[in-house]
Amino acid sequence: MNGEHSSLRSAVCEANRQIGALGLAPLTWGNASAVDREAGIMAIKPSGIEYARLQPENMSLVDLVTGEPLDPSIRPSSDTDTHLLLYRSFPTIGGIVHTHSRYATVWAQACREIPCLGTTHADHFFGPVPVTRQLTEQEIEENYVLNTGEVIVERFESGQIDPDDVPGVLVACHGPFVWGPTVEKALENALALEIIAHMASESMRLSSGLGPIPDALLKRHHRRKHGPGATYGQKA
Ligand SMILES: [Zn+2]
Repeated sequence: MNGEHSSLRSAVCEANRQIGALGLAPLTWGNASAVDREAGIMAIKPSGIEYARLQPENMSLVDLVTGEPLDPSIRPSSDTDTHLLLYRSFPTIGGIVHTHSRYATVWAQACREIPCLGTTHADHFFGPVPVTRQLTEQEIEENYVLNTGEVIVERFESGQIDPDDVPGVLVACHGPFVWGPTVEKALENALALEIIAHMASESMRLSSGLGPIPDALLKRHHRRKHGPGATYGQKA
């Protein structure tokens, strides 16, 4: 097994270390994964191992279809079923980061979506960062981790939200799940979400009646960085 899928393992290992280094999830509260869709394999943090001790070799590889670990001696993250469901439901995403970063989790615990109050938010999320409904008692007792993914997908379907435009969500009473075309981009979005959540908390503390920015400003900023007309950064 060593040497196989080495770039996938390395990318996921580095993203998990960065979750710890950036302070997005103290202890072992967060996890990152990436998918190789051609190979039908997801690599994810192994369960319960401190970020500093992670090595590419001990990343857990999981079959995207069956959900079975390729090496049963490495137990994958306890959130594996949520990650798998998101990859199956959102075919364009390539990496997922789950954290319990403080301010994003504050909003998740308040069961409130984060309104787009400024251009920092608009650059990363095209509209509010949505919040899921709470899981029912039955959903918690049976297949809790899978049902966490189900309520995320339900929120995007019912709200007709495109996961490429809004690369993250707050799971009610829990915390953020954030994604992107790669795991590096998912990590960047997770960091952006934490900063956005912090700024929104402070802005609303200063001015409690604050509403979202005008649509024109939201569109102007999002298109600056995303899509065929993007003008941010250097030409490829
Ligand atoms: Zn969690």
